[in-house]
Amino acid sequence: MPTEPVAESPLATALSQLRTAVDYLGLSESEWATLSTPRRILEVAVPLRRDDERVEMFKGYRVQYSTTRGPSKGGVRFHPDIDLDETIALAMLMTWKCALTNLPYGGAKGGVAVDSGTLSLRENERLTRRYTSEILPIIGPERDIPAPDVGTDERNMAWMMDTYSVNAGYSVPGVVTGKPIVLGGSLGRNSATGDGVAIAAREALKARNIPIEGARVAIQGFGKVGYWAAKAVEKMGMKVVAITDVSGGATGFATIDELWEGIKEHGTLANIPGLERITNEELLHFECDVLIPAALADSLTGKSALGVRAKVIVEGANAPTTPAGDDILNDKGILVVPDILANSGGVIVSYFEWVQDNQDYFWTADEVAERLNKMMMRAVTEVHELADGKGISWRTAAHALGVGRVAEAHKLRGLYP
Ligand code: GLU
Repeated sequence: MPTEPVAESPLATALSQLRTAVDYLGLSESEWATLSTPRRILEVAVPLRRDDERVEMFKGYRVQYSTTRGPSKGGVRFHPDIDLDETIALAMLMTWKCALTNLPYGGAKGGVAVDSGTLSLRENERLTRRYTSEILPIIGPERDIPAPDVGTDERNMAWMMDTYSVNAGYSVPGVVTGKPIVLGGSLGRNSATGDGVAIAAREALKARNIPIEGARVAIQGFGKVGYWAAKAVEKMGMKVVAITDVSGGATGFATIDELWEGIKEHGTLANIPGLERITNEELLHFECDVLIPAALADSLTGKSALGVRAKVIVEGANAPTTPAGDDILNDKGILVVPDILANSGGVIVSYFEWVQDNQDYFWTADEVAERLNKMMMRAVTEVHELADGKGISWRTAAHALGVGRVAEAHKLRGLYP
């Protein structure tokens, strides 16, 4: 049985996935060296004046992993546990994700090691603006385009856009994506990651000849990704049977709207009366057709993957499965739709938003949904065909496609000087 390497971490996971893709593609050690090295790392101190006048210092990061295929792109995370290694790993994943989906971008990620839940609205604004001004020299619509991620949302993007624009002296909506609609945001961006997760789930069920109507879905995480994924799979005819969030978990609800109303009334998922409680572990091991990990990294490990009973896993979160967990899921014959494919809907609609901002011409919700479906379907089909044709996992196929495109772009651009 595979055992967990000692230094398990999102960066170790990302590097091991890259190694598999590089070996599969038969790339040279020089290409490995190029592909496994982040291009630009910025670590900043972010001072925050709290509402009570105390000043606290937080660590902030922006990692531009690659700019070979275009400006770097990726979210900004506000979470107490983030560090440089995790930010590098997530920036690396963004690079392969953008290449896999054929977006003209490299990959980036950023964040501040802070618990956003402890910030008042004004503290959140001050922290966001100061972080933005610290990374200002390296971002821009043609350089690096941030977006929301765990712990940030469209309000943070509005403040980032405003801070950048005030410094530039004119409005620059294309500097960030995931903005409010009135500031140049795109219709459909809020729900895009979840909508894409649902498309990936639908296609994975088809690949396994499991009927979509009535397929049982368990979801870990009820935030920006989990909530919209739940709504979207329900619309497709699937049935969400269990959900967990940071407060706890529940099963025995009828619809997502009913659950959402319950949360609004009782504060948290765990407080809704009349539902059967489940733990996070019970959720991961729930008897279902589709399991959607949509929380943080390292959920499915060499230990927790052993009890998984789902037929298909669709990775809404980034890096939710460790290499040891992945080996176990593959051995069990479970189809895993990897993060860089499953959650690519978010950055795809971010790309649409950037295109609309750059052209000052905005699309309808139907146009966004139709183009999202088309781009996801192209990526899903490519991954499915490569995986079946070569007898490899969907993860290896997805990484091979993404990494292969970046390697090809490196080769064509050549080395300066
Ligand atoms: N944070 C999202 C992701 O991990 C979206 C990034 C973006 O839109 O740039 O894919």
